Amino acid sequence: MMDDFLQLDAGLQDDELLIRDTVNRFVTTEVSPLLLDAYEKAYFPKELIPRCAELGLFGLTLPPTYGGAGASYIAYGLVCQELERGDSGLRSFISVQNSLCIYPIFTFGSETQKQRFLPKMVKGETIGCFGLTEPNAGSDPASMQTTAKKVADGWILHGSKLWITNAPFADIAIVWAKTSDGIRGFIVEKEFVGFSRHEIHHKQSLRASSTGELVFDNCFVPDANYLPGSEKGLGAPLSCLSQARYGIAWGAIGAAMACFDKARDYVLERKQFGKPLAANQLIQKDLADMFTEIIKAQCFNLQLGHLKDAGKVTSTMISMAKMNACREALKIARMCRNLLGANGISAEFDVIRHMNNLESVFTYEGTDNVHHLIIGQYLTGINAF
Ligand SMILES: Cc1cc2nc3c(=O)[nH]c(=O)nc-3n(C[C@H](O)[C@H](O)[C@H](O)COP(=O)(O)OP(=O)(O)OC[C@H]3O[C@@H](n4cnc5c(N)ncnc54)[C@H](O)[C@@H]3O)c2cc1C
Repeated sequence: MMDDFLQLDAGLQDDELLIRDTVNRFVTTEVSPLLLDAYEKAYFPKELIPRCAELGLFGLTLPPTYGGAGASYIAYGLVCQELERGDSGLRSFISVQNSLCIYPIFTFGSETQKQRFLPKMVKGETIGCFGLTEPNAGSDPASMQTTAKKVADGWILHGSKLWITNAPFADIAIVWAKTSDGIRGFIVEKEFVGFSRHEIHHKQSLRASSTGELVFDNCFVPDANYLPGSEKGLGAPLSCLSQARYGIAWGAIGAAMACFDKARDYVLERKQFGKPLAANQLIQKDLADMFTEIIKAQCFNLQLGHLKDAGKVTSTMISMAKMNACREALKIARMCRNLLGANGISAEFDVIRHMNNLESVFTYEGTDNVHHLIIGQYLTGINAF
């Protein structure tokens, strides 16, 4: 396992270390044995849901009033890092439940909605998904075509959402649709008439995660399921994305750490030309470069976590962390894949699974280009989207 070279652990609270180490053990002993089968057969191992609930991984930062643990955002980041050491699919599942479902209900929901949904979501009895992306609206969510029309006692939703994590088995969907007053959020329940879900097949990435389409065919959503705080329009779903991107910045580095650990063990063990691969200067250069990038990103994440816990983080800071972590993690995964030679292409050695997963992580929650444009706008004041 990667050593704490820069002694970053010294800056963590005891409860943060405890949470991290508990999740690390959970991933090693309970998650890892399931991953090869889940990845090859392309399913999310749902048996993990009750265990995630027992470990307090849903609603970790939520106040205890709604069943949450009230933990710090640094603790949440560490959880994402450890989960993604296992698989980006598991971290995606947790990100969606926490950042994209619990967070919007907590932030934009009425007291009645919070009481009704949050405690069950924390217990893992209600699983959510988040529908923003559409077939014709990805990086530009403002161009969404799903509509919500006001009728007596509720709303009629019409349209569809694509590439939605957890969609095939979620109990509720946080759905963003265009009303005559702009974009608003709704809690759509799986039983609602006119609502259907379809699984997306043939993914070559995030195979241990379930992804699907949400279809609203004149689906009636009662007023009770309209999110009253979503009146800030597109800013509401974007603030959810910021929450999720924060966890992704930590998570992607977890995947990089897993690849690094595997590759370092491998090059120490494997001999060619009468000596371990690790005895070659070129290989040591790769190791040194990867180790340095991982530690740089860990420092970034830790500082981001401190700022988030102090309420001082900005969405541009989070964009930079997400962009950097995904780019470096993907580079590291590809480098490790190379270091394992032919074994690097076998899912039995984990690295190619991480590498393929990171292609999705690089694209979702704001592509690499989108984050460059966000930072570019910060630097120049010019919107270049
Ligand atoms: C496995 C997976 C799970 C997902 N889960 C969810 C989910 O749970 N909920 C959800 O709502 N969405 C989800 N998504 C969707 C994801 O957020 C989108 O794929 C992402 O926002 C990009 O949109 P797009 O695929 O339509 O690509 P596009 O927006 O069409 O972009 C295609 C390419 O063009 C580039 N590009 C676009 N605009 C510009 C520009 N102005 N300048 C320069 N380059 C540009 C992009 O960077 C990208 O490289 C998921 C995606 C995947 C792959």
